[in-house]
Amino acid sequence: MIPFQARYAALPEHAHVRQSPVPVAAPRWIAFNRPLAEALGVPVDRPDTALLEVFAGNRVPDGARPLAMAYAGHQFGHFVPQLGDGRALLLGELQDREGRTFDVQLKGSGPTPFSRGGDGRAALGPVIREYLVSEAMHALGIPTTRALAAVATGEFVQREQPLPGGVITRVARSHVRVGTFQYFAARGDVDTVAALIDFTLDRLGVSPGDNAALALLDHAVEAQAALVAKWLGVGFIHGVMNTDNCALSGETIDYGPCAFMDTFDPKQVFSSIDRHGRYAYANQPVIAHWNLARLAETLLACIDGDENAAIAKVNERLEAFPGIFERHWRAVFGAKLGLAEAGPEDAALIRGFLDALHAGHADFTLAFRHLAGALDGSTPALLAGLFADRSALDAWLPQWRARLADDDRPIDTIRSDMNVANPDRIPRNHLVERAIRAAEDRDDFSVFERLQRAWARPFEFDEDFADLRDPPADHERVTQTFCGT
Ligand code: AMP
Ligand code: MG
Repeated sequence: MIPFQARYAALPEHAHVRQSPVPVAAPRWIAFNRPLAEALGVPVDRPDTALLEVFAGNRVPDGARPLAMAYAGHQFGHFVPQLGDGRALLLGELQDREGRTFDVQLKGSGPTPFSRGGDGRAALGPVIREYLVSEAMHALGIPTTRALAAVATGEFVQREQPLPGGVITRVARSHVRVGTFQYFAARGDVDTVAALIDFTLDRLGVSPGDNAALALLDHAVEAQAALVAKWLGVGFIHGVMNTDNCALSGETIDYGPCAFMDTFDPKQVFSSIDRHGRYAYANQPVIAHWNLARLAETLLACIDGDENAAIAKVNERLEAFPGIFERHWRAVFGAKLGLAEAGPEDAALIRGFLDALHAGHADFTLAFRHLAGALDGSTPALLAGLFADRSALDAWLPQWRARLADDDRPIDTIRSDMNVANPDRIPRNHLVERAIRAAEDRDDFSVFERLQRAWARPFEFDEDFADLRDPPADHERVTQTFCGT
């Protein structure tokens, strides 16, 4: 028996809708995350088929009370008062060995009252993308939802063409989003906002202090700043930072059109629907700030009975965001440059390297990874060869070495620190695409399995995966991604 709890189900009943998954024709395992299952107390020694039935949505396990969560959201800046889980169901919650509680959610498990005409299903391609990328993000040390299981349904879903279907099981500290708060605030339902504040603080282990709503806002500000700084550190572009995809837990959620950039370009966008670059690489901190302002609006009535006093309190928090973000950003990029600690005066040095990457059209991941080779005063060919124009790099390297000299740390220490801050390989989009093509077109999951292994230890050089380090050849380059649903 899987020891499910039904905690979200205990919230006021209009927060969710009870809904059972719709069974699929011929479920087949694609992936099962055994270590994660064990950590959550899922009995993995039981017959495979019983678990397969659960993670395909064909059998509701004892103790689970599947439900679709209600939420709203700003999509590309436009408010939609009702979105909700249209193709996902929260099965229930499980605890890990440290006593932390996690949501377990099926995605692609059939329509719900929130489906708005959609089929409630997921195609296999997006399931593979989410499985690969979310697990890789975890291995890169970035807060994220995890992938517990992936199942092929044996059915087709109709998109622009018929595609094989899949169900992914996602695990999160909490699926409560900014959009969850917006759903109730937009209806003037202050009582449910208050209940949701208490629920979320309790779930995330955050003390309510003397003002629970402010404690939640403070937590969200810090968590989003930390998260987006980490995204920028690996060249990650989320692609659809709508408020319904912004989790209070500070986990990366929704791997629709996300992609990692190859050549560094702060304006990089992949998503086909992001025509104005709202969610471009360098705009992500600006959008996180904007999303936090939308969260703050929903909390006002719970912060202070006097609206002006409440506004003053949230403004103080929101105005602090850029500074908090900058602190996280400096910590991430200072470590990537091998600094023992990056202070405010190091921001210019960090920007200098990014500008050199941009000017030289260099690959973001490899340039940081090979930079350690230049610690001894040389400019190794592996590094220089990444730059179409190396004049900015050549001007910058002596400044960097002079700054490192101030730290007075041995080169070996700096090098090993840099190697755990700069991944050797990341989930490049053309590789994700390769895994999807093999699975969808040829029913071949070997690429998917190999990439899972390669990205489980992204900081360790591994000869077996040396071919996975490089940027795409011109014909392999993926220039556009889609909100695959
Ligand atoms: P997303 O783009 O994944 O953030 O989803 C935005 C909204 O559309 C959410 O309310 C989803 O539940 C809903 N949605 C996306 N795809 C489907 C689908 N295939 N069937 C039903 N609802 C969907
Ligand atoms: Mg979403």
